[in-house]
Amino acid sequence: MVLADESELRSTDERGLADEGSVSEGPRPYVARSLWLSSEALGLTAKIDVVEGSEDGSVIPIEYKRGKAPEVPEGAYLPERAQLGAQVLLLREHGYICNAADIYFAGSKKRISIGIDDTLLTTVRDAVRRVRVLCSRTELPPPLEDSPKCDGCSLIGICLPDETNLLRKERSRADDAAPSALRRLHPARDDRLPLYVTEPGARIGVDGSELVVRGKEQTTRARLPNTSHVSLFGNVQISTQALRRLMEQGISVTFLSSGGWFYGRAEGIGSNNVDLRMAQHRAAADPATCLQLARAFVEAKIRNSRTMLRRNHDGIAQSVLFELEQLARKAAESERIESLLGLEGTAARVYFGAFSGMLRGEAARTFDLDGRNRRPPKDPVNALLSLAYATLARELTVALGNAGLDPLLGFYHRPRFGRPALALDMMEELRPVIADSVVLTALNTGVVGESDFLRHPVGVSLTPAARKRLLLAHERRMDQIVTHPVFGYQVSWRRMLEVQARLLGRFLLGEIPTYPQLRPR
Ligand code: SF4
Repeated sequence: MVLADESELRSTDERGLADEGSVSEGPRPYVARSLWLSSEALGLTAKIDVVEGSEDGSVIPIEYKRGKAPEVPEGAYLPERAQLGAQVLLLREHGYICNAADIYFAGSKKRISIGIDDTLLTTVRDAVRRVRVLCSRTELPPPLEDSPKCDGCSLIGICLPDETNLLRKERSRADDAAPSALRRLHPARDDRLPLYVTEPGARIGVDGSELVVRGKEQTTRARLPNTSHVSLFGNVQISTQALRRLMEQGISVTFLSSGGWFYGRAEGIGSNNVDLRMAQHRAAADPATCLQLARAFVEAKIRNSRTMLRRNHDGIAQSVLFELEQLARKAAESERIESLLGLEGTAARVYFGAFSGMLRGEAARTFDLDGRNRRPPKDPVNALLSLAYATLARELTVALGNAGLDPLLGFYHRPRFGRPALALDMMEELRPVIADSVVLTALNTGVVGESDFLRHPVGVSLTPAARKRLLLAHERRMDQIVTHPVFGYQVSWRRMLEVQARLLGRFLLGEIPTYPQLRPR
C-alpha cells in the first residue's frame, strides 16, 4: 500500500527548492516528504522523511535525525542504518530503483551516505522475522538488564526494568543485596495536578487546551497537559466535548458523591492491555492465587497499622504491638480467605482501639475514636477516615486502570456491582500509611477542628470547606517524596501507587514470583 504515491512527488521547481537547512545539496527533479509506504510481504510500514528522485529514475530515502553524526566508520549506528535499509526495501517493493540512502544529522548539519548492501538488508529481514515471532507470543519479553538504553526510554515508568529484574531474582539473591543500586524513577513525582470540582452546580467545558470550570461566582481554568485526573463531587456537570478531550489525552474522570463516595470513572481506551486483563481474570478464578494475594494484602495492612502505632502513639503498650505482630504472622500463614477476614477484623479492633493515642494537643482533648464505624460515620474522626479512604480508593482505581488492570475485579474483596474490589484490595496495605496518616496530620495540625463537622441525628459529616482542606491534605501526602521500602530510591506516594499497580500486573503475568508488599519501616 502506498499512502503518498508518485503523484505526490512534486518537482522541486514547483515547490521551490528545498527549504533552508533541508537536505538538498543541489537541484534534483523530485522531492517527496513524509511518504508512507507499507508492504504486507515485507511486514513493514514506514513514514519516510524525504524521498529524492533523480532524473535517471532512481530514488534516495533521507532520514532526518536531530542529533550529531556519530564518529563511526559506517556513518551511523546499526539501528539507524537498519531503518534506512527497511526504507530501501519498501521503495524497491513498490517498484522504485533504490540503491542508496542518506541520513541528515541536524546537530552537525551533515548529510551522510549509508552503504546499502546485502548484509544490511539481510539484517533488516532477519530483525523483522524475529519481531514478528515476538509479537505472536502472548507474554512480554523480559526487560533489559542494566541497559543504558532504559535511561532514555519513555517506557521506563511502565516497564520498570530494574524493579522487575530485582524481584525476579529475589529468591536467589542474598537478603542484603543492595536495592540502592537501582536507578531511580524519572521523574520521582508526577508534576501534573489533579482537578477537584466540589461546588454543586459547577459546569466544566473545554476551550482549546484548557478545561474551564464555571461556578456561581468564579471561573477557573486548568491546562489539560498539566492535569493528572479530574474528580467530580456531587452535582457537577461536564460537557461531552470536555469528556472526549480528557479521554483522548488519557486523563481519568472520577465521579463521587458530594460526601466523597466513589461511584465510578470514565477513561479512554488507551490503557487497556488485553493480555493483562486475561491474566487478571485467570488469577481471580484461581483460589490459590487469590489466597496468596489476599495474605499479602492483609499481612501488610496489619504490619503497617503496627508501624503507625509504633511511630506515632504516645506510649503504646507492648502487648498491643505483640498482638498485631502475632496477627500479621497468622495472616501470612492463613489457609483460607475466611480466616483472613477474621484476622483482619481483630487487628482493626486492636488498632482502632489505640488510634486515639496518636492524637496530639488540642485534637487529643477534642476528639476520640471508639472503634471504626461508617455509612454514615457516627463521629468526626470516622467521618474524616471515610473521606480519606474513599479518596485513596479513587487514587488506586485510577492507578490500576492506568496500569491496564480492571479495578473492579479483586482477589480478596469479592466482585460486587460497581465496587472497585481490586482498588479495595490494594488499599488494605496503604490505609494506615496514607489515609490514616492524612487524617492524623489534619487533626494534629489543626487543619480541621471541632467546628468543621455537621452533626445529624444519624451521623456526622464534614462541612464543604473542611472537605476541601482534607482533600488538600491528601494531595500533599500523595506528593510527598519518601524512600521506597523495597527499591530504596526517592519517589512520591502517588508514583509509588503507580509502581505498585504495575508490579501487581507483573505478578499476574508471571514475570515476578510474588507480589511485593509495600511496608514502610
Ligand atoms: S525501559 Fe523497558 S522497554 Fe525501555 S529500553 Fe528498558 S527494557 Fe526496553
